[in-house]
Amino acid sequence: MSTRPDKPWNPVELEVELFCRGLLVDDSARAGVDARRVARTRAGLGSGVELVIPAPRQGIWVNVPLDEPFVAVSPLTLVRQGDSFAVRDKRHPDVVYPVRLPDPPAWYARTTSRGVPMTRVGVLQGTYLGVYFAETCMYWYNTPSAANCQFCTTGVNVGKNEELAKKVEDVVEVAKVAREESGVTFTHFNTGYHFEDDPKKRAMHGLVQARPFVSAIRRNVGGFIGMQAVPVLKECWDEYDELIELGCDHFSFCVELLDKKWFDEVCPGKASTVGQDAFFEALEYTAGKLGRGRVSGEIIAGLEPAESTKRAIDRIVAAGGFPTVCIFRPLAGSNLAHLPSPDPDEMRDVMAYQYTAARKAGLAVGILPNIKVSLVVQPEEGRDLQPEQSWLDPYEWKLKALRTLARPYAAWKKRPRPGAPAFVPEIPPGPAVGN
Ligand code: SF4
Repeated sequence: MSTRPDKPWNPVELEVELFCRGLLVDDSARAGVDARRVARTRAGLGSGVELVIPAPRQGIWVNVPLDEPFVAVSPLTLVRQGDSFAVRDKRHPDVVYPVRLPDPPAWYARTTSRGVPMTRVGVLQGTYLGVYFAETCMYWYNTPSAANCQFCTTGVNVGKNEELAKKVEDVVEVAKVAREESGVTFTHFNTGYHFEDDPKKRAMHGLVQARPFVSAIRRNVGGFIGMQAVPVLKECWDEYDELIELGCDHFSFCVELLDKKWFDEVCPGKASTVGQDAFFEALEYTAGKLGRGRVSGEIIAGLEPAESTKRAIDRIVAAGGFPTVCIFRPLAGSNLAHLPSPDPDEMRDVMAYQYTAARKAGLAVGILPNIKVSLVVQPEEGRDLQPEQSWLDPYEWKLKALRTLARPYAAWKKRPRPGAPAFVPEIPPGPAVGN
């Protein structure tokens, strides 16, 4: 454990501390936490407790690990104080960090019209709706042995804690209720690897399976729509074009690790099917279609050396994306559960670098209102990890102006577009009809 801090953490420093160390729960806070937790879904990262750290501009959402073995030695404890909650750090017994535990949305206790519990269709991760829309990633079924990413638990969550294959009508219903009752403006779809070499079986591809979902959300619900899937190879890039036409606003590409040794070992499926370069190439292609900074590359910090993570950030930015850096969480149930959680000091340094890289490239990060992601430190938050900040910084003034300009655009985007292109299923050619 690193040294006792010489002064209280600022909100972003505390966020990193919580990601890396997790949180013990005092008996006074236990019932409040239990009432807010949902089962592990998707890759499992959102399996902790969601909390919001008050910060000058807007609250910082963070999904804090509770169950993983490394949490047992955390110096941080969640306590209840009357009607509110706070984090206490035993290295700083005099300091109390107030936090908010958002109430679980009422719709978490409801079912769709088809009788499916809504949390088995989608869950909030911060202020956006996350939906793993397809069946379990094919890497989990690789033969002779599974080739799933070693940190991931999708294969044990999908089909157990959430529906194996979501129905479009359920997703639309949950997205509508999330918009109306929780103010959600961003629906994020993800899936793993779904691909067939046989061109006649393209309907299997994750991006092709996503079409009816994207189209239905654009036409019936509105808001921003994001898509995350293992990239397809060049000959299938038209699948990105089709999703953009149907209303997709954002693509994210989880390259995870830059060092080849780490990538091959931790992501054997990705390494043996598409390879690492495919992530950067697809990132560059979609950035060319949607615009610089409207796609993202995701990496994990805390497994490979920090210098490699920084090089990955540079490569993502050079390809036209903004970096999303996820602090490695040795998830219970994953193949890497035995590893230690990363050092918070090193992670703060990486997050500061993430901000600097976005700043150098002039990327417009964090400008859309009400999109807060609880699984990562967002690039714009890294500013508060810089040794010095000037209020005269032109980049910050530009972001401020863009945030103001983005408001009417976001309001316009929120509306459903019944006239947007409809998804038309591909009908395989039937047998020739003749006399
Ligand atoms: S691609 Fe990797 S991280 Fe994504 S679902 Fe598959 S195994 Fe999990």
